[in-house]
Amino acid sequence: MIYLDNNSTTRVLESTADAMRLFLTERFANPASAIAQFGGIAQTIQAEKNRLCKALGADDADQFVVTSGATESNNLALFGAARANRERRHLIVSSIEHPSVMEVCERLRADGYRVSMLPVNPEGTVDEPVLEGMLSLDTLLVSVMLANNETGVIQPVGSVARAVKRRDPVVLIHTDATQAVGKMPVDLSGDLADVDLLSLSAHKFHGPKGTGALFVRDTDILAPMMYGGGQQNGLRAGTENPAGLVGMATALMTLLADTQALARVAGLRSRLETGILGAFPSAFVLGGSASRLPTTLNVCLPDIDAEEIVDQMAARDIAISAGSACSHGARKPSYVALAHGLSYERAKSCIRLSLSIETTEQEVDLFLREFGDVLSLA
Ligand code: PMP
Repeated sequence: MIYLDNNSTTRVLESTADAMRLFLTERFANPASAIAQFGGIAQTIQAEKNRLCKALGADDADQFVVTSGATESNNLALFGAARANRERRHLIVSSIEHPSVMEVCERLRADGYRVSMLPVNPEGTVDEPVLEGMLSLDTLLVSVMLANNETGVIQPVGSVARAVKRRDPVVLIHTDATQAVGKMPVDLSGDLADVDLLSLSAHKFHGPKGTGALFVRDTDILAPMMYGGGQQNGLRAGTENPAGLVGMATALMTLLADTQALARVAGLRSRLETGILGAFPSAFVLGGSASRLPTTLNVCLPDIDAEEIVDQMAARDIAISAGSACSHGARKPSYVALAHGLSYERAKSCIRLSLSIETTEQEVDLFLREFGDVLSLA
């Protein structure tokens, strides 16, 4: 199989699976039990959260709430912030957020909140002056993702956060960094020092599915969504998942240790892009002149039906995607492509190719051959 669908999910590396195995089979005690204290499981949880701190520039292990993934992190960030501050009832979110932000906004709207959609320009980047114009004394939270899952376009989250805080320090800044972590610098004490809440998910960077985290700079800003045994300082009750956390931290540290990896992936992405644009002169890249993750390429090939091409490639054991995998099957054009100003027809002709540190030059070349073949038959 040629796997160019890494924004959907990634493979767990053997070294990460090995690190997790110990916490499934031997050191399996409940982290809250007396025997776990003896076996050091609670200390392991602190140590692994400290590794996340180190990787992402956070100060304190207690600022990380381990969740079941970015969907839960995004839900906790938005619902939790809304429940902790009942005074303010206005949110601003970018028009290209993942459904796990968009759908929460729909629920909040139904509960009487006002939600403003921050548009992106044709290159896929949010417009900062427009955002400033949307702020009001009622604004509770601004949510702008760090990198988009369909295009890889990187948003100026640090600068957005600084501008908003200058105007009103009470407004919370949330960023969904699910696609960014492990693929670009994410520094919560540097460029992102004004970000209050940041979501991540292990399975996007070669960690296990079903484990993610929400960074919460100051725990007072959030009310929990899960009640029970009071784990994780009361912010997310439920027996912790040491194996998942070990997998998440190990995967992230492994990626960050390979300092050449991203440059290599960027080279492969260029090879892919040049190959496609050379073979199909009418093709163009969504967000092509914006700053993008090195792992993502979204190409629009006017007059093709992207879903059909994805299916035909799948029949040849090649995994790619049309729009976001989460909306796959709906046969609706991607709202992210529409937000870039593409027509309905054009938006249905966009194909997402997403690479990882495991992608090879041979795979890229084989993909280009098969893709050319499929399109010539289309
Ligand atoms: N946000 C973004 C930007 C994503 O790409 C995804 C995964 N498709 C999610 C959130 C949801 O993550 P999870 O699968 O961990 O719930």
